[in-house]
Amino acid sequence: MNDWVLPQIDLDRCDRCGLCVHHCPTQAVEMGGRGPFIARSLDCTYCTDCEAMCPQVAIICPFEIVWVEREVSR
Ligand code: SF4
Ligand code: SF4
Repeated sequence: MNDWVLPQIDLDRCDRCGLCVHHCPTQAVEMGGRGPFIARSLDCTYCTDCEAMCPQVAIICPFEIVWVEREVSR
């Protein structure tokens, strides 16, 4: 897992409200001594909920999910 594709948390903007920790559907985010961090990177499903709900706009998801239709060979 490359960390640069994970949600990036700007601790200078974060006010430690804990919303991202409580609402991550896979419990990938934990609150540490300095603020939230991605504790279980393999559990992140790239849903972007944390980015959408952060009231301080402190989380940026540096990826874009693109759906492509695949040809099925028979
Ligand atoms: S939701 Fe945003 S402001 Fe709240 S703890 Fe998470 S990163 Fe910080
Ligand atoms: S993108 Fe989704 S699964 Fe990943 S840390 Fe954020 S809320 Fe959790």
